[in-house]
Amino acid sequence: MQVYLVGGAVRDRLLGREAKERDWVVVGGTAEELRAAGYRPVGRDFPVFLHPQTNEEYALARRERKTGPGYRGFVTEFSPDITLEEDLLRRDLTINAIAQTEDGTLIDPHGGQADIAARVLRHVSPAFSEDPVRILRLARFAARFAPLGFTVHPDTLALARQMVAAGEANALVPERVWQETERALGEQRPDVFFQVLRDCGALAVVFPEVDRLFGVPQPPQWHPEVDTGVHVLLCLQRAAELEAPVTVRFAVLAHDLGKGVTPQADWPRHIMHESRGLPLIDALCSRLKVPGAHRELARLTCQQHTNVHRALQLRPETVLKLLEESDAFRRAERFSEMLLACQCDAQGRTGLEEKPYPQRGFLEKARAAAATAQLSSDVLSALSGTAVAAAIRSRRLELIRALEKPSVA
Ligand code: ATP
Ligand code: MG
Repeated sequence: MQVYLVGGAVRDRLLGREAKERDWVVVGGTAEELRAAGYRPVGRDFPVFLHPQTNEEYALARRERKTGPGYRGFVTEFSPDITLEEDLLRRDLTINAIAQTEDGTLIDPHGGQADIAARVLRHVSPAFSEDPVRILRLARFAARFAPLGFTVHPDTLALARQMVAAGEANALVPERVWQETERALGEQRPDVFFQVLRDCGALAVVFPEVDRLFGVPQPPQWHPEVDTGVHVLLCLQRAAELEAPVTVRFAVLAHDLGKGVTPQADWPRHIMHESRGLPLIDALCSRLKVPGAHRELARLTCQQHTNVHRALQLRPETVLKLLEESDAFRRAERFSEMLLACQCDAQGRTGLEEKPYPQRGFLEKARAAAATAQLSSDVLSALSGTAVAAAIRSRRLELIRALEKPSVA
């Protein structure tokens, strides 16, 4: 039985990055032997074991054999006669298909080191097309490694495009699409994930609401980049630069979905896109089973982003209404996240990336000030229930009125 380090740990060491986990492959062994040695089985689909001390993952070498068309149209075989080379052959990308022996020797039959040096994401073999999850992984690795200069090899992109054309992407299960998307949103270039999906045609299949934004114009005086899809990608890039949490990044992705359904006659204006976006967000979130917190923040951002952008021009009454409609007093943290998403929107415009966004600080101050509204016990005891609410409201309004507005940039 031989054991090799494989996958991300080998790749990341060659890239000079710290690996977050180590994956091992076991050649010439059986499940029984591993169990007898104290390894604990975890995989439901494949024999994967946890090391009794380190808890690291050990997988039996496997071989995949195509049995029919489409997703899951292959069987996976495990037996002690499967070689390391066979195991590496069924892996997705060459940079992920390098193995390392105990003494540090690299086994690299698919040119992974050369592709690391050339900064190329390339499929290991035509078997790549047997599993559409690999398209999502490809896009996710492109998002992660774009800052290091990695791009997708044209042949791999062409293969992904063929897979999509053959309908393979339709078979992706929603949970997996979301799982990969959530991880991709957290990478340094989440925009690249969506760009790669678009380049191979998968975006139209898994995120039709986002795909539709490409080719939709916006007024050039506000949006020098014009194209709505390009704008959303710039916003995502800004969100990553600002180290926004994933919920915010998802809200950024979804904030302009309504622009995809503006009647063409109204282009390049998008008068009602805030309300038109809501059913699209709901459809996307239901389909992919996006968690409720992400959906809520996305809905709120979609509804309120134009109001937030106008914050410095709003009358105090309207500022209070914005706070109330956003449930900002009870959900202060979500409100802050929404403001951050709005900043990403404002700065996700060509040439305006560094333009200050005082609206965010102003509305934070307005929320904090209004939240301190209190009534003295004398006043309270003299008022009925509904009158208390009205009195609090007018106190909040006074506090907002008293705020100094930053000068309009
Ligand atoms: P990370 O740093 O995200 O853990 P990783 O490359 O280690 O990256 P894992 O998801 O941990 O990715 O998978 C470990 C290895 O298993 C990969 O490097 C790859 O070789 C292989 N692999 C995982 N999923 C697939 C897949 N769907 N198709 C082919 N190979 C895969
Ligand atoms: Mg890994």
